Amino acid sequence: MHCVIVGASHAGVQAAVNLRAQGYEGDITLISAEKVLPYQRPPLSKAFLQDTLPEARLWLRPEAFYQQKNIRLMLDTKVVKINRSAQTVELADGQALAYDDLILATGASVRRLTIPGADLENVYYLRDHQDAASIKQALPKAQKVVVIGGGYIGLEAAASLRKMGKDVTVLINTARPLQHLTCPAISDFMTQLHQQHGVVIDTNTLAVEITGDKQVTSVIADNGTHYDADMVVAGIGVQPAHSLAADSGLNVSNGIDVNAFMQTNDEHIYAIGDCANFTHPVYHKKVRIESVQNATDQAKTVAFAICNKPAPYNALPWFWSDQYDAKLQIAGLSAGYTDVVVRQESEKSLAAFYFSGSQLIAVDTINQPKSFMVARKYLPERPELDKILLADASIPVSDIFTGAPQHA
Ligand code: FAD
Repeated sequence: MHCVIVGASHAGVQAAVNLRAQGYEGDITLISAEKVLPYQRPPLSKAFLQDTLPEARLWLRPEAFYQQKNIRLMLDTKVVKINRSAQTVELADGQALAYDDLILATGASVRRLTIPGADLENVYYLRDHQDAASIKQALPKAQKVVVIGGGYIGLEAAASLRKMGKDVTVLINTARPLQHLTCPAISDFMTQLHQQHGVVIDTNTLAVEITGDKQVTSVIADNGTHYDADMVVAGIGVQPAHSLAADSGLNVSNGIDVNAFMQTNDEHIYAIGDCANFTHPVYHKKVRIESVQNATDQAKTVAFAICNKPAPYNALPWFWSDQYDAKLQIAGLSAGYTDVVVRQESEKSLAAFYFSGSQLIAVDTINQPKSFMVARKYLPERPELDKILLADASIPVSDIFTGAPQHA
């Protein structure tokens, strides 16, 4: 038996680890297009960028681990084609590898700017190790950084660069940061947090051109404003890396379509992590989730399926983000919420509970770990809670979830 895994990041590596943990005795080949050992991605915009995490602590597993577990790790190797009838994958050098089961853990690729000047030196993205290393190398010569994009990656990059003493301006083409991800209360909190640290946040501002000779000198916005810059970092989203699957005739929509066992429409091919599009069992809608939790949990599901112990995927999505001293923790999927309850426990601590009608569907917390923990525990039941009590920070949040009597 031979299981080939394409992509060696959070999903791919964990799939290999779980296959061995579940007693898979066949060969495992783990293929990565990247040159370095498989690594954790979240620190790239946080501790690794700030140079407070040594490279050795970035690796998901030490090199020796793969040998010990008899996992053949092929770095700097790109899979260019899947031949489904022959059950082989073709590598960029023309070599073909036969598989019994194939796991696609190809993740997502960064969306690139298409505006004039986007190809100038000192325009960076933040998706992989090489991106982060390039930014770090260029930082000593950069003081004025314009970040384009107000999602998690843009804001994390802004926080890290500001902590390193850079002058940072964030250009956001929507009315508030995290607009498509959180409610206004969370966006406002994050805006103020960045402003308190000296970051300029310009909303409703679309970058339309980057100027400079070889190097960036400014970014021009749609309202005509020129922002001086000697570095641009763009965090404008990602797209699922599903072309390999699509080219081989697998079903793809927003990512590679899979069932509850992470299996595609080919029974020998699975997809997990950022590239997988599946119907979420709690939310009953098709989603593609970009988080370490999702990649890690789907890696378990696929290993169970391949080891003939099928168990449908049923994990609740959760995610985190670190910016300055703010720890954001997110559980559930808030898209489509009808109502939000804000609970402010202190100046530095906020939670937003998202409801669909009377049912709790998601929570975003900032420095409120108890609210995160208790909501995460009960969210799969989509509990109905007293919204007035929930907003009252004098009542312990766990009492509200467990229905403990409230004292006047
Ligand atoms: P990826 O990590 O995208 O890995 C896919 C791998 O497959 C890549 O190495 C790619 O090169 C390789 N590949 C693709 N095609 C081929 C091919 N044809 N042949 C060979 N190899 C191929 N999530 C959180 O939960 N919390 C966070 O705080 C957080 N912070 C983040 C910060 C940054 C800067 C980034 C970029 C992401 C962050 N994320 C965070 C998201 C999280 O890292 C991703 O959800 C996770 O990495 C997804 O893992 P994956 O294995 O599915 O895909």
